[in-house]
Amino acid sequence: MSSLTKTLEGLASWEGSLDDLTATASELLLDQRTWQGQVLRAPTRSVVVNYRTVGLVSPSLRKRYQWRHLVQLVVACVFVQLGVTRKAVVKRFHSLAPAEIIALLDHPDLQDESATLILGPAAVSLDESRALTMAHEAIPLLAAGLVDHYRRARAGQPLVHDTSVSAWLRAAISRLAGLYVMYSQPVEADGAHTLVARCGQPLRGREWSLPIFDSPEFRFHGIRLLDIASRLPTIECIDLARQIASELDLMEQQAFAQLNSVCDQFASRGNEVYSALREFITRHPITTAAEQRRFLAEGNMQLAAPFLASCYEQVQPHHLVKGALLRCVNCGAPMVASVVADHVSCPVRTCKAYEAPVLRASAREAISEDSLVVKAHIQVYWCGPGQDEIELYDAAVAEPAGLSASLYPGRDKCDISLDGDVVGIDVKSHANPFVLAETLNRSLGGLELFAQKYVAINDQALSRFPGYLEILCRECSRLDVEFISVSTLCRKLKARA
Ligand SMILES: [Zn+2]
Repeated sequence: MSSLTKTLEGLASWEGSLDDLTATASELLLDQRTWQGQVLRAPTRSVVVNYRTVGLVSPSLRKRYQWRHLVQLVVACVFVQLGVTRKAVVKRFHSLAPAEIIALLDHPDLQDESATLILGPAAVSLDESRALTMAHEAIPLLAAGLVDHYRRARAGQPLVHDTSVSAWLRAAISRLAGLYVMYSQPVEADGAHTLVARCGQPLRGREWSLPIFDSPEFRFHGIRLLDIASRLPTIECIDLARQIASELDLMEQQAFAQLNSVCDQFASRGNEVYSALREFITRHPITTAAEQRRFLAEGNMQLAAPFLASCYEQVQPHHLVKGALLRCVNCGAPMVASVVADHVSCPVRTCKAYEAPVLRASAREAISEDSLVVKAHIQVYWCGPGQDEIELYDAAVAEPAGLSASLYPGRDKCDISLDGDVVGIDVKSHANPFVLAETLNRSLGGLELFAQKYVAINDQALSRFPGYLEILCRECSRLDVEFISVSTLCRKLKARA
């Protein structure tokens, strides 16, 4: 590992202005002096501004820059000074986390890599449009196959690669095999298990050895179909599966069905109880039985106790880092060991703390002996995406002149409503704008009922996909929906309040 790599990893809590960013990057590059025999130069302020314009450096958060931006700038400077085009570097960084970008530096064949990056897809002679069609067919089939097998696994049926393999998964395997043959690659992921294992990796050329996944035309670039930590289908995977297999009872839907039947027991209070339970769970990825009892008693909702208990489990070894249950200060989820030594980080991709590892010694420990942790599917489908919903709701009702806002009104007609049923807000954290646009084009769901419709996009998802909002506006056929980032909408709400 080079000293530059080490230094970059150690700056996880770095933050500063544009000038600080320029100065820190310059210092790091000048300290390193050379890279593969090439003398490194410090970037000027105008170079940094230019890198931001072309997408090499992600947009800042309220004019503040963080670790992610510093890593992008330093590594981009190294690549560009070694002769890689800026366009190729943008493509290479696409949807990578800072630690993954740093890892690019230690690639032993950086030069060869640069050559293939410069050559790009033009060096491949084959019918790209045919490959693209096959890839666009394969991925939704793969998504449906994954969801189908998760449904079966829940019913106690393990995945076995024989004639019982889901027809969707088989169809996906044959199309992927066709793609590998087209690219003269050894056929990878031809068994159900290896394929499923690979689905935790983003759909990119490097991870799948399929260059078509890096084509600007490939609509599913960068998506992960399985959540790495929990091995559950991601929200995108479920959306893609729905496109061709609407009859699958998805795990996410099951949790909703159980919640709904509990709320039915409350008759006319059903909607109110629905909102209260969803809010409690989203705000408490870690809780205790005593805290649950208190919450239920205060709202006179004791009937919901078995449901609430069923959403949580005892602390498991995978929730702990060296024996301690550490709570993310931002979203409350259990933290995991970071790739940066002696640091821990939040495993929730939509959380602001996801890319900001903290020293293990300074992380907040959940001290209670009898802590309960929310189950994996509730964390992935409710708590993770719910952080933005809670933030927007809190911004809307904030003093001095709080707006009348409801969370999950009318049992989830939308995520947040304002002024009764006038304004509806849905929050989305899809990694890829094409998949989101297709989902919205099929149906807006309950948001349809509101006169003014907002779809607010998670800021982390936006920062990982260049041109996200523009693509979404272009691809989505609904003209009556306003697309906006969560942070911008938060500011608008606070200004109104
Ligand atoms: Zn978090």
